[in-house]
Amino acid sequence: MNLENIKKIDPLVADEIQKEFERQQNTIELIASENITSKAVLEACGSVLTNKYAEGKPYSRFYNGCEHVDIIEEVAQERACKLFNMEHANVQPHSGAQANMAVFMYLLKPGDKVLGMDLSSGGHLSHGSPVNFSGMYFDVKSYGVDDFGCIDYENVRQMALEHKPKLIVCGASNYSKIIDFKKFREIADEVGAYLLADIAHIAGLVAAGVHPSPAGYAQFVTTTTHKSLRGPRGGIIMCDMEHARGIDKAVFPGMQGGPLEHIIAGKAVALLEASKPEFKTYAEQILKNAKALAQGLMDEGMEIIGGMTENHLMTLDLRKTSRTGKEMANVLESVGITANKNTVPNDPQTPFVTSGIRLGVPAVTTRGFKEDDMVEVAKIIASAVYSADNKSGLKNLRERSLKLCKKYPLYKG
Ligand SMILES: *Cc1c(COP(=O)(O)O)cnc(C)c1O
Repeated sequence: MNLENIKKIDPLVADEIQKEFERQQNTIELIASENITSKAVLEACGSVLTNKYAEGKPYSRFYNGCEHVDIIEEVAQERACKLFNMEHANVQPHSGAQANMAVFMYLLKPGDKVLGMDLSSGGHLSHGSPVNFSGMYFDVKSYGVDDFGCIDYENVRQMALEHKPKLIVCGASNYSKIIDFKKFREIADEVGAYLLADIAHIAGLVAAGVHPSPAGYAQFVTTTTHKSLRGPRGGIIMCDMEHARGIDKAVFPGMQGGPLEHIIAGKAVALLEASKPEFKTYAEQILKNAKALAQGLMDEGMEIIGGMTENHLMTLDLRKTSRTGKEMANVLESVGITANKNTVPNDPQTPFVTSGIRLGVPAVTTRGFKEDDMVEVAKIIASAVYSADNKSGLKNLRERSLKLCKKYPLYKG
């Protein structure tokens, strides 16, 4: 990492960036929404494009001097459409939540009805949580999951029939099963609702063809670019051509000012990377690693919500242990594993404490971890649960996790 210039002007920030690099290098990253983007993406994001104002769309801007960012943004749009098999893409949303916000702004008026997945069941804040704009300005009903952590499609259908929403949102931040976009579309059609598929978590799997695609089912598809897709931090909206103008207007001038062209360049690079055969191999390895981790944990006597995962993540169910999610997230951090606490279905603990830990493998798979390594990770996690009070035991686990980190350095070569 070249921090020469920051070091001269701002040693404090330089020092913390360096330490953050070392933290990433020396910890096993199991936060399911994180990944390790490529050097090529980092270069784009750290480029002179950050200097450029480009309000508007490619070839139709409010500022001059956009001839280069026009080409970059246009190619990002084309790559997104091709990769996800959609007709139109807007690559300007600064984040996934803003991508969703723009779809809401285009389709709905304040007070309109929305059916989305409950946050505590694995949905996202921006799908109608009362503390988010989506829940504040719209009339949201939320569907949950059954005791096995699965969406009950008949229940979703009944709720749709009862409430007649204008928009149904599917997609999740913590859901370990395949999402049936076809079923969601059938339900939406039955009640005359639009369907928004938010594939933020599974975008890399969808791009690689190892998870079914919402294309052809959802009129609107939103995603983040920094999770399994492995690009820079940001969002994308895709839609049918008939909604293109409306979506573009909702993003700008509706919701945002100038687009982040340096990040858009990073998105373009990441979308190209995701179209390569190597990325398909990567996505297949994500599925293998997630299964190996889940099986390894179950072999150690741990419980996983819904049993075997079908994607890149799972929730460890701690209800039968004496540990809470909050406590275990801290214990895991002390042994060099980063993960987040999460609620389980019908969680007896508060959302701040929780009885679960969400685990995801996109980041470690990028580093090169394979199935055997995931079994070792499972053993470390299970031992941490069983011996969270044993100081020397935890020290030993930290050594084992560090050994794995050393085996797979970040940004090698
Ligand atoms: C992460 C996520 C988002 C939000 O992305 P941000 O970039 O954090 O705003 C939206 N929807 C889902 C399903 C997510 O998992």
